[in-house]
Amino acid sequence: MTPTPDPLGLAAGPGCWLTGCATTPAVQWRRRHAIGADDIEAVFACPAHALTLDGAAHIHQPQCTVDPTRLPACGCTPEPLPAPVQVTAGPTPAATTAPGWATPPPTT
Ligand SMILES: [Zn+2]
Ligand SMILES: [Zn+2]
Repeated sequence: MTPTPDPLGLAAGPGCWLTGCATTPAVQWRRRHAIGADDIEAVFACPAHALTLDGAAHIHQPQCTVDPTRLPACGCTPEPLPAPVQVTAGPTPAATTAPGWATPPPTT
């Protein structure tokens, strides 16, 4: 048996970020790693120690350590959300004509 992939590590039972809090985490957000800005680590929180839904949607600064006195806000300025993906039709494939054929100029 190979273990089920568990990218969030939920099976390992991550605890709430607040040391000493034994409540099962229900919220997760992302925070940039201090070393290697491309690395993003997950922060888990139980409902009592979670950010707002809006705050959890952002990627937080490496130095973001949630201050219990500020909840449900954190002390950092999270990264802006990526622009919504625009769903547009792909480029129209260029019309190809067989050798020896020409496309007539548009008549206006
Ligand atoms: Zn907690
Ligand atoms: Zn933050």
